Amino acid sequence: MAKIRFHLAVIAAKLTGKLIRLLGRKGSHNPGVVALKICPNFMDLAPRAKLVVCVTGTNGKTTVSNMLTDALLVTGRKVVSNRAGSNIVPGCVTNLVNSLSWTGKCAVDATVFETDERASRLILPHLKPDYMIVTNLSRDTLKRNAHTDYIFSVIDTYCPETVKLILNADCTCSSQLRPGNDRVFFGVGAQPGDHTEPYNLIADNTLCPKCGTKLQYEYLRYNHIGKVKCPECDFASYEAKNLATVIDGENGTLSVTMNGESARFKLISEMMHNVYNQMAILTLLDEIGTDKAMIEKIFDTIRLPDIRFNETQVGKLSLVMSMGKGQNSVSVSRNFDFVANEPEDKTVILDMDDPFDRRKSVEYMGWIWDVEYEQLCRDNIKQVLITGPRCYDHKARLLLAGFPEEKILCVMDEMEAMDHVLLEGVEKIYLIFDCTTLDLANRMKAKLLGIMEGKK
Ligand SMILES: [Zn+2]
Repeated sequence: MAKIRFHLAVIAAKLTGKLIRLLGRKGSHNPGVVALKICPNFMDLAPRAKLVVCVTGTNGKTTVSNMLTDALLVTGRKVVSNRAGSNIVPGCVTNLVNSLSWTGKCAVDATVFETDERASRLILPHLKPDYMIVTNLSRDTLKRNAHTDYIFSVIDTYCPETVKLILNADCTCSSQLRPGNDRVFFGVGAQPGDHTEPYNLIADNTLCPKCGTKLQYEYLRYNHIGKVKCPECDFASYEAKNLATVIDGENGTLSVTMNGESARFKLISEMMHNVYNQMAILTLLDEIGTDKAMIEKIFDTIRLPDIRFNETQVGKLSLVMSMGKGQNSVSVSRNFDFVANEPEDKTVILDMDDPFDRRKSVEYMGWIWDVEYEQLCRDNIKQVLITGPRCYDHKARLLLAGFPEEKILCVMDEMEAMDHVLLEGVEKIYLIFDCTTLDLANRMKAKLLGIMEGKK
């Protein structure tokens, strides 16, 4: 009976997917819903690909799973991933459906699952991946993910003991996951400009998890990401098997030590969080036995997903679109840090509300007070234009950071706001937007590019 249910579920889910795509939608969620309705233990029954990888973590999981999928395609594998949509249970089941033939046989070499941290308790015990990459665990939206300790405990409890973990040695939280499992660590070694004391507004995990003493940092990159040791007990960061050593932005290269040997690859992005993402991918590739020449080819080929970061030049002006994870103060602060440290005179547009949080307004705004608006207090930022339903809350926080009021403009309607972007006396315009508002951000971009063309 279970087998009949499973086969019926495959066919019904595939038909649902086809129908939804005919209607012009992605169909990344509903086929999974249908499959689960017919066969609730679909994940347990579906045949597995030779390689099953889950990617989770607070920040970077979408980037890593997208680029990892591209990387595996370069190796010649047939791969499916849920990159087009949902990372909760129905999205993962849809991905599984896509990995199967109509007769329910596995039709791919590898499946990559971007897995929501909180939903991982409903996914990991059933998918039982070969590998799980955890990019990091940091403070996230209070309403959805509570606290790092809570999310840690969810993954730690529900991750099967057979899973080999690929962990960030520099994340004092996620590196402690599942000590009994096979684990391998990646990291980024000491760099010029590293700190040794917490400097961010958010500095979680500053105390030794074993004895409670204040941790010492050999280097601290941002928030709690860095290399630590406890002055009172034997607690210390794990040694990374694969370590980034030199990040050469000028020449676009990344030097690493891999299994004790030196190697140099193309640098995918200079942004530090993306260097960690690249090291996570490198480590997975190394674990599955990819040789150095192939890894070189992969890093020469793959790139950051365009939708998250792109730049368009119009005459002497350039528009940079940069996606942040809404209600996640760490992600948005990383964006601010990047934008603020760019040398040009610039305009910054903030469209960071998550309108799906509540229709016509945004219910939860506590995260705004955790974002480091202080980063924006630079002379070369000539205007901060804030739009969206919570624009005045963002403004209040920006004023509290000490940003001059005369350089702030609030326009609640996002499209109308584009008429008020300061284009004179700047070289770059940054539009920082929320991952839930990609379509809106693209419409804003199109309108603004039109205005920029007109002034060229
Ligand atoms: Zn200690």
